[in-house]
Amino acid sequence: MLKAKHKTGLVFFPAFDWAINPSHPEREERLLYTRDQVFEEGLLDIEGIVEFAPGIVTVEDVNRVHFCLPDAKSVMTKSHFISAGGAKTIGVAVAEKKIKNGFALVRPPGHHAMRVVHGARGFCNVNIEAIMIEYLRKTYGIRKVAIVDTDCHHGDGTQDIYWHDPDTLFISVHQDGRTLYPGSGFTDEQGGPNAYGTTVNIPLPPNTGAEGFLYTAQNLILPILDEFKPELIINSAGQDNHFSDPLTNMNFTALGYAKLTELIKPDIAVLEGGYSIEGALPYVNVGIILALAGLDYSNVVEPDYDYEKLKQTKEVTKEIEQISDNVLNLWNKRGSNRDRVFGKKEFYMRTRNIFYDTDGIYELQREKIRSCTNCPGALRIETSSKEKGSALAIHIPLYACKKCIDQGYKWHEKADKKQFHMIFLQDRKKDTYLIDKNQTPKVEKYFYD
Ligand SMILES: [Zn+2]
Ligand SMILES: [Zn+2]
Repeated sequence: MLKAKHKTGLVFFPAFDWAINPSHPEREERLLYTRDQVFEEGLLDIEGIVEFAPGIVTVEDVNRVHFCLPDAKSVMTKSHFISAGGAKTIGVAVAEKKIKNGFALVRPPGHHAMRVVHGARGFCNVNIEAIMIEYLRKTYGIRKVAIVDTDCHHGDGTQDIYWHDPDTLFISVHQDGRTLYPGSGFTDEQGGPNAYGTTVNIPLPPNTGAEGFLYTAQNLILPILDEFKPELIINSAGQDNHFSDPLTNMNFTALGYAKLTELIKPDIAVLEGGYSIEGALPYVNVGIILALAGLDYSNVVEPDYDYEKLKQTKEVTKEIEQISDNVLNLWNKRGSNRDRVFGKKEFYMRTRNIFYDTDGIYELQREKIRSCTNCPGALRIETSSKEKGSALAIHIPLYACKKCIDQGYKWHEKADKKQFHMIFLQDRKKDTYLIDKNQTPKVEKYFYD
């Protein structure tokens, strides 16, 4: 009988009662075909591959990461609580060493959900990876975490949540934002003033094949992971780089995904996108599971796999080599570049318009971060939308220094109640979350003129 080299945990949660609409590509069949394939291949009969029932996250788990307007329950369905719960179940099993690694095959996905949530963006309401990570940090004292996002779309939500956190390395490899939703993830997006360089974006040209993905992993992702030395590696495992995916333009394969998994060695993989329901997902998922378990995956080949058609052109190869060189160079020079980009200030501001394509909401956001060399910095966010009103959100990081804690409470104390519908204070150090609701602002202003 086959025995896994690494004990690997699986969670399945197809979310039968959750869909954006019945014909939407984000639907339950995404996981049903995979489940059938996993049974057919007998993966669950292999000694060392174990299945767990998905847990459920609490509102407190969500409030550790997000500011939901007006609250977590109003932007989440039961399926969102369980999808994040599935990731948490795998995370806990890894942290408690019940398994070596694991894969949460869950939906709805999460990597487009940012820190502030007015609604759904890119099919995502809450960030299931971040909810899991912050639970593990609080419960098991894990500090340094790397997230490698291999979904074809830029993981802009995860990037936003960890933009200011020097303890979280976020690497996203995706199809170039000039050619695909959400239109971000360029090489110069490298993190905020207190965490410059720990956001790494690798935009790849359309028609990148397995060769290009593996080149990037070997020449860029692995050296960066080696230097960062995370205690935990999370893979946001999106499978829409597959050649048969209807929403994207890449030429990746199931074998390639398996090899990529073997190289990155994630402790926890969490399913993100992937919309080629029959042609890709069952094969890619089986490949990833075998690679996690340390088993031979060389027989995992899609029925419509055509090596000649999927071969990368010389132009694409050259472009990928140049991008990799460029990104590695930016990583190596992040220390000196930081001062050139940000200089020395006490506070930094940025203003953004964020579009929730799934729900059609426009959010206006103004963010202020305290410059700090001792911690990720106290963060103050003003946010508003026509649909959800306005809020002031203050975040004190888990490893905040004394000055940043004081700054957070000072902002809260001085908050002008006449200006916001809601005021939030998220103190990660104390693990508390205060909501002051039902304000009536004097001036209702949702857009900049
Ligand atoms: Zn995607
Ligand atoms: Zn600080």
